[in-house]
Amino acid sequence: MYQPKLYYTLTSQQVLKDLDVDKNKGLSLREVEIRRKKFGKNKLQESNKTSRFKLFLHQFQSFLVYLILLAAIVSLFLKHYVDAVFILVVIVINGIVAFYQEDKASRTLEHLKEFIKVQTIVLREGKKVQIDKEELVVGDIVFLKAGDKVPADGRIIESVDLQIDESILTGEWLASQKKNIVLQKDTPLADRDNMVYMGTVVQSGTAKIVVTHIGSLTEIGKISTLVESIEERETPLERRVSQFSKIYGLLILILFFFFLLIGGIRHFYFTDLFTTGIALVVSAIPEGLLPACTIVLVVGAREIFRRKGLVRNLSATEILGSTNIILTDKTGTLTEGEMRVARIITGMEILEPKKDNSSDISLVLRISALANEAFIENMDEATEKWRVRGRPTDKALLISAIEGGIDIKDLTLKMKKIGELVFNSERKYLGALYKTKERNILYLSGAPEKILSLSKYWSRENKKYSLDSHKVNLIKEKINQLADQGFRIVGVGYKNIREESIRSDISIQNLSHDIVFVGLIALKDHLRPEAKKSIETCRSMGVRPVIATGDHLLTAKAIAEELGFKINTKNAIEGRELDHLSQDELKKIIPNISIYARVEPRHKLRIVKAFQDLGNVVAMTGDGVNDAPALRQADIGIALGSGTDVAKESSDLILLDNNFSTIVQAIRKGRAIFDNIRKVTIYLTADDFSEIFFILLSIVLGLPLALLPAQILLINIVEDTLPDIALTVEKEEKEVIQEKPRKKDEPLINKKIKKWMIEVAIVTGLVAFVPFVLYWHFTADIMKARTMLLAITTFDSLLFAFSCRSLRHSVWRKNIFSNKYLNYAILIGIFLLLLVVYIPFLQRIFQVTYLNLFDWVIVLLTDLAEIYLISRAKEEIFKIN
Ligand code: ADP
Ligand code: MG
Repeated sequence: MYQPKLYYTLTSQQVLKDLDVDKNKGLSLREVEIRRKKFGKNKLQESNKTSRFKLFLHQFQSFLVYLILLAAIVSLFLKHYVDAVFILVVIVINGIVAFYQEDKASRTLEHLKEFIKVQTIVLREGKKVQIDKEELVVGDIVFLKAGDKVPADGRIIESVDLQIDESILTGEWLASQKKNIVLQKDTPLADRDNMVYMGTVVQSGTAKIVVTHIGSLTEIGKISTLVESIEERETPLERRVSQFSKIYGLLILILFFFFLLIGGIRHFYFTDLFTTGIALVVSAIPEGLLPACTIVLVVGAREIFRRKGLVRNLSATEILGSTNIILTDKTGTLTEGEMRVARIITGMEILEPKKDNSSDISLVLRISALANEAFIENMDEATEKWRVRGRPTDKALLISAIEGGIDIKDLTLKMKKIGELVFNSERKYLGALYKTKERNILYLSGAPEKILSLSKYWSRENKKYSLDSHKVNLIKEKINQLADQGFRIVGVGYKNIREESIRSDISIQNLSHDIVFVGLIALKDHLRPEAKKSIETCRSMGVRPVIATGDHLLTAKAIAEELGFKINTKNAIEGRELDHLSQDELKKIIPNISIYARVEPRHKLRIVKAFQDLGNVVAMTGDGVNDAPALRQADIGIALGSGTDVAKESSDLILLDNNFSTIVQAIRKGRAIFDNIRKVTIYLTADDFSEIFFILLSIVLGLPLALLPAQILLINIVEDTLPDIALTVEKEEKEVIQEKPRKKDEPLINKKIKKWMIEVAIVTGLVAFVPFVLYWHFTADIMKARTMLLAITTFDSLLFAFSCRSLRHSVWRKNIFSNKYLNYAILIGIFLLLLVVYIPFLQRIFQVTYLNLFDWVIVLLTDLAEIYLISRAKEEIFKIN
């Protein structure tokens, strides 16, 4: 029965019959179960998930690793078997560490992906219910509206003004008009105007469709695999890090040749020189840096997720750190978005206050119930158990109508909806056209000035009277008065439509004139309790909050004042005022404006661009279909969890709880992430130079080589694995919420850091070299001298990790042991060192010897001296006091 059929060549009745479903009832739950068992979930095949084994192998496929492998082969040829084996051990251990990090990263991302689930509205057992898109089966009746992503392939049964953007499938960027017609067999995919396809986007209008194909049998399923995903492209920071590692690697190579040259002049054995040089190169190459950065980004994304922000694009985590403007919505982000109707004001109350207006009140309620996009999920149960789904405004209006005594069930029986115009933030109103036995009525609901501007009459006791400009002004005054008190206001109206003006291709927008104005509804939306505090935190972080709302100017002002914005006539304007300004003029005024009211999506786009032209990094929230371009333009596009699929798809970050303070938290995390990447980078690179430094020194001075290759590699393993992982989870410092945003082009390793790193290399190199020289001089026991140097250097690398924990605090003052992973890493490192020094078998491999208590005291003193000097340098360079 479900063989691929050419559904577009059939009538909708035939399709419904074929799929065995009633278009007014939908499938029964039993039938749904049967079909799901048979055909599975509506999921695309997971994109070629790399197996963990492959991921493991992948760790060894890099230029740096090849370089190291080459070194192992060369060592083999030179018959330095221990070194060769040891180099291989280094490669494997580094590979495991990198694998561990990448695997953790990818599993975390998998886990986060679970939360980008798309909901859809279907008809089952005669009821509209909201389900996960994956739960759809063939034959389900699905409702689509503007902003939705089509959840499966389907045949249109009914549609109003349906426009679908199919560019993802056909490459065509002009939206196609779609309706219920019958098409020829040879119609190409791009022209099948009675079908909708998974993954395409409803630009406008509404439709009722029957699902014909799901999962990988859909058109998109045939060509691609993954639609909802988290972007895993290399982030700019990762790019910078990998660039940095390359340059750094090159520098090491140059040093290598320099080393050979001096060694040659100094008459060292070439093979000794060569293998030592190779060991230095191997240990200095920061092959672990990139996976370490990735893990920092991903761990950061996970922490943002804990605070209810879902990162869709990993780059966002780092760009967040330099964000300095948040262009935010008001409704739902700063307010709770749980609206309640506070007052209903009829036209009569405003214009003829003495008369009884109860019949008009019930008309207002009726309109708010009928021109409404929310719906009741379980309508056949008792009223108290009803569950209203939809956007906050619609929900509040519908609930108030129900509470006001409107009998929804009865109304739905008597009135048939034959057309609708969905709300969008450009038009700012919505409409629904109904048919009853006697007549056709159009109901409108939306921004009050908008409804008023479409009105020609006003309503008194269900009769219409002309509106003159005096009356219009009285109503406008009332609107302002309500807005001033912070109410969100909706206006409602209606119009009787003659039968003959109703054709199959009616456009409700064209019918929307000569409306009868009925009344206003004032909604209260309380501020989120934490909103004011978040705005303050935001400011103290040097990030400027700017409100861009579709709401009334006065409502916006009232709310903003409650939030602690200082509002005057100059810093709050309406979107339409922007229409008179050129982009240059906009740039001039933009630094002073805190509120944009009655904005449309295109205004948001212009505001974002203007801010960016002035060098700002902008995060912007959005929820509607038309917000997509602005969301993409913003450095960080933030979609509300309650927003449309399209907005979410164009975003970098989704606020699962719609909450403004989540943005502030995410920015804060973004800053901590950058800090941690920096710390890891410094740690992994700085003190490798110290080894190069003292080994060069030993050659120049004609002493024996200060360390043997295996020893160098051992140091590398101890320092580059566990402490490195521990630093990636370093907790944020409190300064991240006190400092200004980082500049967009702030280098990872800036001048100060470079200076410190050089000092670190010189200090640790020189200081560690002193006991080596002395031991060699007084005991002539090179093995002992090397063992000392090995112990000192291993230990100082471990201690150096503590210094890297902060560039803002001295190592002494910061709570030194608060990173417990680092503590364990250090203990394990010390343990390994002890094993090597005391176990005879390992002693032989590494050519070391016992150290006695006196030796250890020397080791400790030397390292304390180093740490002291390093931190002095840090305090001076970073002006820490
Ligand atoms: P925002 O969400 O930023 O407040 P919108 O563009 O969603 O802005 O809303 C603008 C105006 O449109 C609101 O002030 C209200 O008057 C009206 N409005 C919004 N949503 C609805 C709705 N669902 N039904 C009727 N009117 C609405
Ligand atoms: Mg809105």
